[in-house]
Amino acid sequence: PTAVELDDVAKRYAETTAVDGVSLSVREGEFFTLVGPSGCGKTTTLRLIAGFESPTEGTVRFHGEDVTGTPPEDRDVGVVFQNYALFPHMSVGENVAYGLNFADPPGGVSDDERVRELLELVDLEGMRDREPDRLSGGQRQRVAIARALAPGPDVLLLDEPMSALDARLRERLRMQVRAIQRELGITTIYVTHDQEEALAISDRVAVMRDGTPEQVAPPREIYRRP
Ligand code: ADP
Ligand code: ADP
Repeated sequence: PTAVELDDVAKRYAETTAVDGVSLSVREGEFFTLVGPSGCGKTTTLRLIAGFESPTEGTVRFHGEDVTGTPPEDRDVGVVFQNYALFPHMSVGENVAYGLNFADPPGGVSDDERVRELLELVDLEGMRDREPDRLSGGQRQRVAIARALAPGPDVLLLDEPMSALDARLRERLRMQVRAIQRELGITTIYVTHDQEEALAISDRVAVMRDGTPEQVAPPREIYRRP
């Protein structure tokens, strides 16, 4: 079954066409990555899926339902951006609990218990009372992921979550993100400019070029441009 579908989507600004002719179908439970050089339309595509932007043309569907005009809060998505948007004056636990304000968490557990579960999921059980500025970059991104997952979204959207980290931490966070995704079985759409990362982490990859996916395939079938 299809979780997220873009049907011939375009987004034009006054001077630029950010994306054009984007048709993609992301399956339930899939780890799907948009990869390509800077300016090829990855972030715009993710923002169209999140509902932060409306397409100039085309249709966005969640589970077959047209959501093209609906705002982000009605789309059941959790979003993590490139730069950690943690609240510096709140502890790790408070940052994660903040995510619970946006929807009813699943399963009738208390907020306190839910925060504990989420911190365990991202392997930060001992960090609940820390301030974000006392964490490493990888730990901060895991807090941001826990906060995005707090309301129990149907789809997780990640925009270059590793780009601020050095190579060693990127590799480690990559494995952690994939483990979290597998544990939850959550449909995940991931944006990166790093082809090696895309091929390592994904079930399927869309290689974007000039605002359009030019290949959509599992990593082993992606050909590399010379
Ligand atoms: P990527 O994420 O692959 O780097 P983007 O989706 O951010 O690419 O951008 C695709 C193109 O659309 C770029 O040329 C960018 O400058 C342009 N663009 C993105 N957002 C806007 C905007 N709000 N206004 C004008 N142009 C934009
Ligand atoms: P991670 O991939 O979890 O970010 P690191 O390799 O950065 O892991 O850190 C390993 C351990 O060092 C962590 O478990 C953490 O407790 C500690 N640590 C890393 N950076 C900091 C920091 N800035 N302040 C306090 N402890 C840190």
